[in-house]
Amino acid sequence: MSTPKPTDNITNLLRRIRLSAEKHQRVSREILLVAVSKTRPQDDIRNAHAFGLNNFGENYLQEALSKIEALADLPLIWHFIGPLQSNKTRLVAEHFQWVQSVDRIKIARRLNAYRPAHLPPLQVCIQVNVSGEASKSGVRIAQLPELAREIASLPQLTLRGLMAIPAATNDQQAQRQAFSSVRLALEHLKLEFPELDTLSMGMSGDFEAAIAEGSTMIRIGTAIFGPRNPQGQEAS
Ligand SMILES: *Cc1c(COP(=O)(O)O)cnc(C)c1O
Repeated sequence: MSTPKPTDNITNLLRRIRLSAEKHQRVSREILLVAVSKTRPQDDIRNAHAFGLNNFGENYLQEALSKIEALADLPLIWHFIGPLQSNKTRLVAEHFQWVQSVDRIKIARRLNAYRPAHLPPLQVCIQVNVSGEASKSGVRIAQLPELAREIASLPQLTLRGLMAIPAATNDQQAQRQAFSSVRLALEHLKLEFPELDTLSMGMSGDFEAAIAEGSTMIRIGTAIFGPRNPQGQEAS
């Protein structure tokens, strides 16, 4: 039996996205697919782009920078989605269009300071910690307004919304409950910042529940490119 090709995976994935959207009276056009290409070689990204994907998510800075350089001939949109330390902010601000993992004022200020003036503002999501585990990155829901106000005051950043990575579970009800609390947090924040339009939530194992709860951006690796080889991961 031959292994499924990434293009078959993308076809199947797009069908599943469309079906979940329809099931919840949504249109799949409202849901942006970000292909998470961490640990994948640049040829996988070329193939996915040839198949119509333009948005790619990366977690590890050095790995991402070499791919961004090697693929500069393509009109790709790069999302930084990994944990972000201060000493990485300059290169992230210079090379990415989106940063989805902002969780501290200090990081936001540095991204703003390093974003080159000739580039459009960096598109930013605040990573929110919904599952409440101390080990997971992201801000608590109660801390969101303060960080959002700070980001909104920084001219080289555009605050777009929230990103969340709830604890992995196969329980659909638990998945929906976690995503629902992120959606409610965004609704609340929109009272003060009505322009916010992004709920980045849903990965290969839970994107259907995320779409049911109003996700506008899903970040999918495994369901496009197949299982990741843990050896291929590098520390960021
Ligand atoms: C790796 C990763 C993904 C993709 O996960 P899959 O389960 O492979 O779809 C999405 N978001 C973030 C933040 C990730 O680190």
